Amino acid sequence: MSTAASDTSRRVAVVTGASSGIGAATARALAGDGYDVVLGARRVDRLEALAAEIGGRARQLDVTDPESVDRFVAGLDRVDVLVNNAGGAKGLATVADADLDDWRWMWETNVVGTLRVTKALLPALEASGDGLIVTITSLAAIEPYDNGAGYTSAKHGQAMIHRTLRLELLGKPIRLTEIAPGMVETEFSLVRFDGDADKADAVYSGLEPLVADDVAEVISFVASRPPHVNMDQIVLKPRDQASARRNIKTG
Ligand code: NAP
Repeated sequence: MSTAASDTSRRVAVVTGASSGIGAATARALAGDGYDVVLGARRVDRLEALAAEIGGRARQLDVTDPESVDRFVAGLDRVDVLVNNAGGAKGLATVADADLDDWRWMWETNVVGTLRVTKALLPALEASGDGLIVTITSLAAIEPYDNGAGYTSAKHGQAMIHRTLRLELLGKPIRLTEIAPGMVETEFSLVRFDGDADKADAVYSGLEPLVADDVAEVISFVASRPPHVNMDQIVLKPRDQASARRNIKTG
């Protein structure tokens, strides 16, 4: 599964959800910055292709499965940066019409998944002497929007884990940065709409969304700050989007 041996002299960055979108772009950016990147996701074929391209290490990871997380972290002797990126949305429904399985998926993936991986890697991040946890939340972690409660509640939950850790880790050598993007064109909407490409494309047509590299460049900048500088929260939106509820199409 692993495509390259680790080199203990290089800083190690773990990126969850590295098989597509923001995670893949981040893995590529951090490898370009000289990190030994460990890529985790369920679609191992994609991870292996990217790992081979950037000289990283591919490891199967399902953040909703405790045994998968145990296997993923086993043998990761050094971890300097953790990017909690694995996540997403399922469906767009009012609370009245909520699909409980969709809600469970969103909470298991974004909230409990982030907790599982972070908890497992905290000792290694502290041992690094200059650890960094970047968590990709969302505008959905800042404000509600119609039909979005499953996702906005999960992203608020994920954000609270991250923001609480910022308090609990004070005095330890671990920095924490929350990145809250608005609309980024990735596979996010394809997943949200169960593979319906027309519905997914409609989300981004008529405006210019962010692309995954826009977010990855910010993460690369955050990781390059000196150890005493903590960038707490970065909200990143397309110019065409003013809030989770307003963009140039909605007026
Ligand atoms: P994406 O292209 O769908 O990527 C999602 C990644 O998460 C994939 O690599 C997927 O890999 C991984 N993933 C999903 N479930 C997983 C699981 N159980 N275990 C491990 N990995 C899992 O979407 P994206 O836009 O890049 O999303 C990345 C993060 O940004 C998410 O947390 C999302 O909520 C957040 N975000 C996205 C936007 C946006 O507009 N796109 C805006 C704000 C925040 P596998 O399917 O291979 O496991």
